[in-house]
Amino acid sequence: MPTVSVSAAKEEKQGTERFVAVPRMNAICKHLATEIDICLDTQVAPLKGTVDHWSLVDEDDAEIGRFDVAVIAVPAGQAATLLCAAPQLADQAGSAEMTGCWAVMFAFADSIDLGFDAAFVHQSPLSWIACNSSKPERNGVIARLGHCMQVHSGLKITSTIHSMRSSDCSLASFGKQSEHHLQHIRT
Ligand SMILES: Cc1cc2nc3c(=O)[nH]c(=O)nc-3n(C[C@H](O)[C@H](O)[C@H](O)COP(=O)(O)OP(=O)(O)OC[C@H]3O[C@@H](n4cnc5c(N)ncnc54)[C@H](O)[C@@H]3O)c2cc1C
Repeated sequence: MPTVSVSAAKEEKQGTERFVAVPRMNAICKHLATEIDICLDTQVAPLKGTVDHWSLVDEDDAEIGRFDVAVIAVPAGQAATLLCAAPQLADQAGSAEMTGCWAVMFAFADSIDLGFDAAFVHQSPLSWIACNSSKPERNGVIARLGHCMQVHSGLKITSTIHSMRSSDCSLASFGKQSEHHLQHIRT
């Protein structure tokens, strides 16, 4: 995986093994879920019980089950609400500071050849770029949308555009800046 700075792309010092699922990213979750009993389309209400004995009910107060351990994998603010029976954990979750990340997908009529599939970007408002169309088995998406490039913002620009009033305006602003920086990377 390379990193890109203003002038050049170079390989990471230590490569990390990364995976791309086919035909879509959710294939990983579907595979992991094959032998698990999963309760879908259910909104879990704030947990009842104690830290070693949880009782879960849904939003209509119907019992989901009793569990020794509950793993809550939602944004911190939502976790705080779910954890009201454990005030210490709720406080910890409630005081977590979230940092946003803008994500924009660009679709091009022509194929994109940057010489790499994805990269961390330095010295730029962008932090990550990935050529979605170079993932295997994405020809259907290319035919429908074009050649797609995913762009993530860095922390600095995220906080700047977050303070703008209209979210449309902030997204448009990030889109324009991304376009400018992508052109720079392409040339
Ligand atoms: C458009 C898009 C494209 C992406 N593409 C990629 C990619 O190609 N590769 C990649 O690695 N990552 C990608 N990501 C990022 C990836 O989707 C996230 O990093 C990942 O989904 C985070 O997983 P998570 O389980 O932490 O959170 P989430 O996926 O947000 O899961 C949290 C779940 O908890 C549920 N939930 C919340 N509260 C309750 C409640 N009270 N009761 C029951 N359920 C509740 C939510 O409905 C949600 O389903 C993409 C993200 C987006 C938006």
